[in-house]
Amino acid sequence: MEKKAKIKIAITIASLAAISILFTRQQRRRRKLNQCPQYSCYLQSEPKPQHNFKRVLADNSYSPFKHANKEKSSGSHPYELEITALLENPRPEFDFSNVDLDLQRSDSFVWVETKSQLNELANALSKEFFFAVDTEQHSLRSFLGFTALIQISTEKEDYLVDTIALHDEISILQPFFADPGVCKVFHGSDNDVLWLQRDFHIYVVNLFDTAKACEVLSKPQKSLAYLLETYCGVATNKFLQREDWRQRPLPAEMLQYAQTDAHYLLYIAKCLVAELKQQGNENSYCPDDKFNFVLEASRRSNMVCLQVYTKEIESYPGEAAASSIFFRLLNGQGGVSSISSVTQDLVRRLCAWRDLMARVHDESLRFVLSDQAIIALANKAPANRTDVYTTIAQADSDVDCLNLSSSLPSPSPVVCSHLDDVERQVCNNVENLDDILLANLQKCLGPNGSCPLSVFNYVLPAKNNWELKNQSNKFVYKQNGVKVSRQVAKKASRDLFVQKFSCKSPVYHNCRIYANDGRLLCYCDRKKLEWLVDCLYFVFNSTINMLQFTELFSSYRYLTRDLAKLVEDNPPAIMLLFEPKGRPEDEGNEFYIQSKKNICVSCGEGNHYLRYRIIPSCYRIHFPEQLKSHRSHDIVLLCVDCHEVAHAAAEKYKKQISAEFGIPLFIHKVADSRKEEARPGFSASITNFEEAGVSPLQLRTAAMALLHHGPTMPSNRREELRRIVMRYYGGREISEEDLERALLVGMSPRERRRHAKKRGLSLKMSKPTDFPNKQQDSYPGVTVESAAMDATKADNVLGLHAIETQKSGEKEGRSSLTESHESKPPTFSNGGIDQLVFSTIWKKMNSMSKVSDSKDDSVGNVDDECENSSAQNGFGSSSPTPNSKVSLLGHGPHGKQVVNYLLRKYGEDGIRQFCQRWRQVFVEALHPRFLPAGWDVMHSGRREFGEFSVYNPAKKPADDGAAEINKMHH
Ligand code: AMP
Ligand code: MN
Ligand code: ZN
Repeated sequence: MEKKAKIKIAITIASLAAISILFTRQQRRRRKLNQCPQYSCYLQSEPKPQHNFKRVLADNSYSPFKHANKEKSSGSHPYELEITALLENPRPEFDFSNVDLDLQRSDSFVWVETKSQLNELANALSKEFFFAVDTEQHSLRSFLGFTALIQISTEKEDYLVDTIALHDEISILQPFFADPGVCKVFHGSDNDVLWLQRDFHIYVVNLFDTAKACEVLSKPQKSLAYLLETYCGVATNKFLQREDWRQRPLPAEMLQYAQTDAHYLLYIAKCLVAELKQQGNENSYCPDDKFNFVLEASRRSNMVCLQVYTKEIESYPGEAAASSIFFRLLNGQGGVSSISSVTQDLVRRLCAWRDLMARVHDESLRFVLSDQAIIALANKAPANRTDVYTTIAQADSDVDCLNLSSSLPSPSPVVCSHLDDVERQVCNNVENLDDILLANLQKCLGPNGSCPLSVFNYVLPAKNNWELKNQSNKFVYKQNGVKVSRQVAKKASRDLFVQKFSCKSPVYHNCRIYANDGRLLCYCDRKKLEWLVDCLYFVFNSTINMLQFTELFSSYRYLTRDLAKLVEDNPPAIMLLFEPKGRPEDEGNEFYIQSKKNICVSCGEGNHYLRYRIIPSCYRIHFPEQLKSHRSHDIVLLCVDCHEVAHAAAEKYKKQISAEFGIPLFIHKVADSRKEEARPGFSASITNFEEAGVSPLQLRTAAMALLHHGPTMPSNRREELRRIVMRYYGGREISEEDLERALLVGMSPRERRRHAKKRGLSLKMSKPTDFPNKQQDSYPGVTVESAAMDATKADNVLGLHAIETQKSGEKEGRSSLTESHESKPPTFSNGGIDQLVFSTIWKKMNSMSKVSDSKDDSVGNVDDECENSSAQNGFGSSSPTPNSKVSLLGHGPHGKQVVNYLLRKYGEDGIRQFCQRWRQVFVEALHPRFLPAGWDVMHSGRREFGEFSVYNPAKKPADDGAAEINKMHH
C-alpha cells in the first residue's frame, strides 16, 4: 500500500512539473487566440449600401432627431411660419388649367445618379412653378428605413433620382421643396413628407395632395391606382411597391412603375382642381364661398407639411413591441397580468434585445427576430443554443406556411452571429435587463467589439445616450443635447481615456464550481477553472502521452473521469463529484459565493470600468500576508467618473492620516552620498542634511526640465533648477550624466524599468552601477531623510536595512482583482493521495490567479504600486522574494511607516480597523448603489484558512511540499 502511494506521489510530482511547463506554453497560445474576437458578426462580410452614406441625420441611437435649424423658426418645425401663413392666407389659386399636360407617358426618363446630373435637375426645377413628387423606401435591412429613390416629374420630364448614390448630396433640392411659390404635388404624402425630413432635412412647403383632394370631393376611393385608372386609363401593379428598391440597376418593370407613380400626378391634380372648382360653383349659394373646395384641399394638404419627423421614444427598448405581443398573446381576452410573469419577462427581454441589436446592425426589427419567434421563445423557454435555434426556425416556418409571402432567413444572421447572447437572454433570468443590454452593447460596439461601427450606430455606446436611472428595468433618456464644442472636445478626450484605461474584457467571468450535491462552492475566473479541470484530468490520467495531453489541455469536454463534470457551458461551471470538506457557507460569508457584475459598483455603468483599491496600495502592500487575502472584497470595479471621485477622496484622507499620525506623505529630502570621485561600489557616507538634500520629486522635476528644455529656458530659471539638482549632489557642479542619474533617484525597480523602456538605448549604455539589481542596496548611493518624527522614529529608517528585511510586497501586484476565494480549498473527505494532489492544484491555482489579468488594470498611480517582478514559476516556488522596493517618489514610505506603527501599537486589529476606516471613506465618497450583497464596511478580515491555504499563518510557504508529504505518512 505504502509503495503504491509512493509511486503515485512520484508520478504526481512529475506530472505537475510537466503541467507547469505546458501551462505556460498553452497560456501563450491562448493569449494569441484571445486577440481576435470569438466570433465575427455577419456584417463584417456583408456590405450594405447605406454604409457608404456619410451624412446620416437620423442615426440609430436613442437620442431624439435633430431638425434643421432655421432663423426665426419658433417651434420644432423650421418652416412653421411659412406653412401657417399658407393655411391662413392661401396663395393664388392652383391653376393647372392653362398648363399643357401630356397624358401620354413617354418611355423615357432621366436617371439622376451623379452630382452634375443632380445639378441639372436643380437647374430645371428652378424654372418650375409646380412639380410632382413620389419616393420609394427601403425598410427591411435598415432600422429607421431610408429613401432609395425620389421620382420628380415636371411638365416636360420625368426624373428618377438615385438617392442611394446621391444620399449625401440631395439636400441641394431643399430650397425648391421649401419654396412657398412652388406647388408640390404628391399622392398620399403623409409618409413621404416625414421621410424627406428624416433623410435630407427636406421640408415641403405648399403642397397639393391628390389624396386629400379625393377626400374633399368625397370620391369613392382615394388610392392612386383608382385615380390612374379613372383619369388616365392606366393600370399599375402595386405589388412592386414592396420590392427591394435598393437594387441597382433597377429592373425595367420597377423603373416603369416608379416613373408612372409620379408622371400622371400633375395631370390628375389638374383634373381634381377643376372638379373642386366645379363643386364650389355648384354647391355655393354665396359667391364668397366660391373657392372653398379648392382651398379646403390646399389647407388639408399643407396640414400634412406641418408634421415633424420624430424617433419613437420608449421608456425601455422594445416596450411598444412587447405590448403589442402581449395583446396578441391575450387574443383580446384578459389583462396582461393573466400572462405568467416568466413569459412577460422573457418577452420584454427579447424585445429589448431585438431593439438593441436592430440598432447596432441597422436592421429592421422583423429582420432581426420575428414576433412569432419571440412568442415561441417565451412560451418554450429553450434550455440551450440548439434549442433556441430550432425554436426560432420552427416558429418562422410555421408562419411562412400560412402566408407564402416573406421568406426571410430564419434565424436571421443577427441571431446566428449572436446566438450566445440570445441564449443568455432566454436562459438567464436572474440578471438585470439593464446589465444584459449594456453588456451586449459593450460586446458588439465596445473597444474590439464584434460588430462594425458605422455612421448609424457609433453614437449608440456614448454614455449620454442612456443613463441607468435605477435598478428597475427602465431606460431613461437624457434630454439635454450637445451644448458647446468645448464640451465635445472634453468628451472626446475622456472617451480616449476610457478606451485606454478601462478593462478590456469583463473582469468577472463568473465561472462556478459546485459541490456534488449541487451547492455552489465558489466563483472563479475562467483561467482558474480551465486549469483546475486540466489538472484534474491530467493527474488522474497520467498514462496519456504529451501530445494527447496538449490536445486535451484546451478543452473541458474531456472531463469524463469521476472527479468533476462540466455542468454548464457559458459561463462554464463544473461540479465536483467528490465531497469537499469545507463549504463557503459554513463560514457564514455569502459574499464569496456570489456572481459579480461587470459594472461600476457605484453607478452601475457597464460600458467602462476599472479596478479600484479601496485600501490604497501604499498601505496594503505592507500588511501581513494573512490580512491581504480579501482581495475580492476590497477591490471593486468603478467607472472612470466614479474612480476619479473615489481617488480624490482617498488622497484627501491620506493627508488626514498623515496629519493624524505625524507621518508625512512624501520623503522630504534625498541626497547623493557618493563622493565626487566615485569608486566602483557604493559609499556609505552620510551627508549633512542641513546643507544638502532635496525632495525626490523636486529633484526629478528639475532634472527632467533641464534635460529636455535646459538650453532654451531663461537663464535665471535654468540656474534655479540647477541649484536644486546641485543640492542633491552636495553642492558640487553637475554634469549631463548627473542629470540623467538624478532622474532615477527614488524610483522603484518597476519605475526604473519603465523609464529605461521609454528612453531606450540611451540607458542601456549607462553604467551598471546606476541600476542595481542586488538586494544589499535598495537605494544605492542615496541617503534618505524622512521628516517623520516622534512616534514613528523607529520606522524612520528607510535606508538599507528597513527595506531589505521587508517581506515581499503584494504578490499579485496590480492584478489583485480576481474572483479567487482561495481560503478554503475543497478537500476530499476520504483523505489520502487524492487530497494531496487536489490541494496542491488548488494552491497553485490560487497563486496563478495573482498573475493573471494584470494587463487589464492600467490605472494606477506610481505612488500606489509596488511590484514583485519574480513570476511564480511552478509548484513549490511560492516563497516570497525579498527584493521588493518602494518608490521614494510616491507614498510608499509613508504607507510603510503607517502600517508598521499600527502593527506595533495595536497589532492586527489595528490594521482591521484601519481597513474599515478606508471602506467608510469609500462609501461616504460615492454612496455606491451596486455593491455586491455581503459587502460590508465592517468586514472583519478574520477568516479561517484552510489547512492547505497559502494564507494559513501556521504554514511556512517554503516547505509546503515536504509538509504535505510528511502529513501523508502520519
Ligand atoms: P408609394 O407611396 O406607393 O410610392 O410607396 C412608397 C413606399 O412606401 C414604398 O417604396 C414602400 O417602401 C412603402 N410602402 C407603401 N405601401 C406599402 C405596403 N403596403 N407594404 C410595404 N411597403 C409599403
Ligand atoms: Mn411610389
Ligand atoms: Zn453583430
